[in-house]
Amino acid sequence: MPQPVRVVFLGGLGEIGRNCAAIEVDGRIMLIDCGLMFPDNDMAGIDLVLPDFTWLRDNAHRVEGVVATHGHEDHIGAIGWLLDEMPLTVIGSPLTIGLAKNRIEERGHLKKTKFIEVSDGDRIKVGPFDMEFFPVTHSVPHGYATAFHTPQGVILHSGDFKLDMTPVDGRLTDLAGIGHLATDDGIRLFLCDSTNAQSEGFSDSETSIGQNLQDIIRARKGRRLIVACFASHIHRVQQLANAAIAEGRTIITMGRSMNKNVALAGEMGLLDIPSDKLAKIEDLDKYDDGSVCIICTGSQGEPMAALARMSTGDNKFLQVKEDDCVILSSHPIPGNESSVAAVIEGLLRRGVEVIDSTTHRVHATGHAKSEELKVMHSIVKPEWFIPVHGEYRHMVEHARIATRVGTPPENVLVCSDGDSVVLSDKGLKRGEGVSAEYVYVHGTVGNLGEGILDERRALGTGGFVSAIVSLRIEGANATLVGTPEIVSRGWVSGDDGDQIHKDALRAVSDAVEDALAKGVRKRPELEKIVRRTLGRFVSNRTRLRPSIVPVILGAHE
Ligand SMILES: [Zn+2]
Ligand SMILES: [Zn+2]
Repeated sequence: MPQPVRVVFLGGLGEIGRNCAAIEVDGRIMLIDCGLMFPDNDMAGIDLVLPDFTWLRDNAHRVEGVVATHGHEDHIGAIGWLLDEMPLTVIGSPLTIGLAKNRIEERGHLKKTKFIEVSDGDRIKVGPFDMEFFPVTHSVPHGYATAFHTPQGVILHSGDFKLDMTPVDGRLTDLAGIGHLATDDGIRLFLCDSTNAQSEGFSDSETSIGQNLQDIIRARKGRRLIVACFASHIHRVQQLANAAIAEGRTIITMGRSMNKNVALAGEMGLLDIPSDKLAKIEDLDKYDDGSVCIICTGSQGEPMAALARMSTGDNKFLQVKEDDCVILSSHPIPGNESSVAAVIEGLLRRGVEVIDSTTHRVHATGHAKSEELKVMHSIVKPEWFIPVHGEYRHMVEHARIATRVGTPPENVLVCSDGDSVVLSDKGLKRGEGVSAEYVYVHGTVGNLGEGILDERRALGTGGFVSAIVSLRIEGANATLVGTPEIVSRGWVSGDDGDQIHKDALRAVSDAVEDALAKGVRKRPELEKIVRRTLGRFVSNRTRLRPSIVPVILGAHE
């Protein structure tokens, strides 16, 4: 009897971002993607969110590698962080690997990584994993749907995809290939992108955007144009370049990742901008406003990126001015809406004309909408289906679509991060769960847990109050040294504040003296008493909930 195959979901089921799943065949583990997530507004100060690597760490000796389905950060951005813990083989198209290498190099792990480049239609074996790569269209070139030929039949992972019938590079989603696989072998389990399950109809083709951009550019003769889009969206950059060059403009790229990706895609022959039409930002002054088009990073409102710096007047290369036109050829990904809005506000206040996808068709999604999902399901005809890549509501809607197209409801499982499923001769069953917490990165610290956010939220909404108590303990005698100090931030201020501080001081002193008289000598106990006393005082007197931090010096440990 063939061995069961297990799939473990480590991220991306219940949020857009940090996509990471694991397939277990014959005791070995192959990851499908290892991405990061951009923080929400309520994740005070956090830079990035990673998948939880606890389970992978415990099973590091069994990990073969990662299939990188395409080059987006939510799929490759955490590979460098996982390499902190274990060596890996990274499998993907040359462009995906090129983009992943940038991230891996940043963490200094290139030497620890083995790369396997695959081409459209390739079928390769790595350990017990027999994998086949089907081209899909998406908002970065050369993405794949991956078929895993396992002892339990074919598991097909869609990757991020849309059904663009007129893609910029002519490379279509290989529906015919997937159809062959579905009829010849049959698909036992299908894992499919749910991002746009709630959007009706079909997505716009990427090529429909090029003409719109050119119309906008043509109508702004003589004015400086600045366009922000994803640096990995090579086809968008290509269309922008074509449109701007056709209108007599020279292209200037701006922002580290835009410069890098334009160079990388150019070297790979995936982007074609004539060298005499491509200039450096340092040479901006040599051009009239009407003869350039600046393509830059920052379409997601990233505070350090080129566009955000323009919006605050901090961009060292370019000061925006009235008569400039900025196009955001993008759509905010969940969590970034308010940062994008802030950038737009900043630009508008500087008198700039701002065009974005709310009013103009300057962006096409990279993810299949509901009708495209129906087409895909009708071709794949899976025995079992699990929606992936989405917030919970997207996955629930995707499950509904699957059943409408013909998968029996009892063969559709909606899963969450940390769930696992086991595919055997008997069918698909839920397996044992694994840890799948959010792991936060701030600065160079890469393993912050949920506790740190609770602390930050408490500080952010209530401030803190600290009582510093010094004791002298000699034999049976214990006394306060001087008066305790109350230090606070973001709690109370002014004359009222002074009085409240004094009263707090009295309450704490009384409580400590009382405790000492009763023979309490140990620091943890005294801390508890001070925290309780101060907490009660703060709550009764101010009805606020600042963090309470007792500091006891000179007590017994
Ligand atoms: Zn993607
Ligand atoms: Zn994605």
